[in-house]
Amino acid sequence: MKKHNFSAGPCILPQEVLQKASDAILNFNNDDLSLIEISHRSKSFVAVMDKARSLALELLGLENKGYKALFLHGGASLEFLMVAYNLLHKKAAYLNTGTWSDKAIKEAKAFGEVIEVGSSKDKGYAYIPKGFTIPADADYFHCTSNNTVAGTQIKEFPKTDVPLICDMSSDIFSRQLDFEKFDLIYAGAQKNMGPAGTTLVVVKEEILGKVERHIPSMLSYQTHIEKDSMFNTPAVFPVYVSMLTMQWLKDLGGIQFIEEVNTKKAALLYDEIDRNPLFKGIVAKEDRSTMNATFNLTDDSLKKTFDKMWTAAGINGLNGHRSVGGYRASMYNALPLYSVQVLVDVMQTLEKSHL
Ligand SMILES: *Cc1c(COP(=O)(O)O)cnc(C)c1O
Repeated sequence: MKKHNFSAGPCILPQEVLQKASDAILNFNNDDLSLIEISHRSKSFVAVMDKARSLALELLGLENKGYKALFLHGGASLEFLMVAYNLLHKKAAYLNTGTWSDKAIKEAKAFGEVIEVGSSKDKGYAYIPKGFTIPADADYFHCTSNNTVAGTQIKEFPKTDVPLICDMSSDIFSRQLDFEKFDLIYAGAQKNMGPAGTTLVVVKEEILGKVERHIPSMLSYQTHIEKDSMFNTPAVFPVYVSMLTMQWLKDLGGIQFIEEVNTKKAALLYDEIDRNPLFKGIVAKEDRSTMNATFNLTDDSLKKTFDKMWTAAGINGLNGHRSVGGYRASMYNALPLYSVQVLVDVMQTLEKSHL
């Protein structure tokens, strides 16, 4: 039986998507060829890329609104660099909410002045800074919507007139937001959308072309827009599986549907963390992530017992990030509510046997 996969990334994917992906490896579209041995310029694959790009805009409600969707290489990490390369003229504002924001800030510093408008680094990123001011003359404001490592999530995005750029790697397609407020969204596929190897970038075209520096072709959003995300050979398999996952989500009822499920899953687990005297949450309650729940045992001597119990229950991927420790339950879109119930049952069994 498949394990209850709470892995933080690469993430759990829907079983039916894995089945279709496996079929396509052997025989794609009944063409008697594998998906990964045909030209990316073949009709069959161009249709996949077109579908993936249009599904991304459709799910976000951004069709015909001046946005382009791209599937690029290099992970979300390359976007830390590309965002600054393409958009940072003089100075940019960044919110530092975790490991990933910190890395984005580091990359941007090579291109201009970086104003850190807020940071929760002093408290191990256990909360989201609020009430900060974004300078009106900043080229853009960059934030991370969900902090995969610490387990916090921005619930309300700041109102600003400067372009809003957001790393949504670990909560893309998980909750309804007014996506039109954002000018550029990026997400590494492997957290909530597909396998590692491609990154979704959704960019409002009008924000491009404003910096004077020469941008290398591969690092220019305009290159990839002009070439319909086929400037070079795209990551055909990750794009295909991401497309299948987006189609799966659309068929279920889109973001509106999955947000309800995600809310239920998160409530089930956080209620148990708060109720059960053997556990405690790590981050500020109002900033808790619906995707990555981080928690600790109140008594560390129970660690061996608890670890044995959840492993025996068929749970995978519950250990916290190496920089934080403790536990992290990642409840991405494809994780069923039932898996969270299994984890909660284990937590209750531990309580019964030790109190
Ligand atoms: C994992 C992650 C990244 C890094 O993604 P790569 O695709 O490995 O470069 C960036 N931002 C967030 C929020 C992440 O969770």
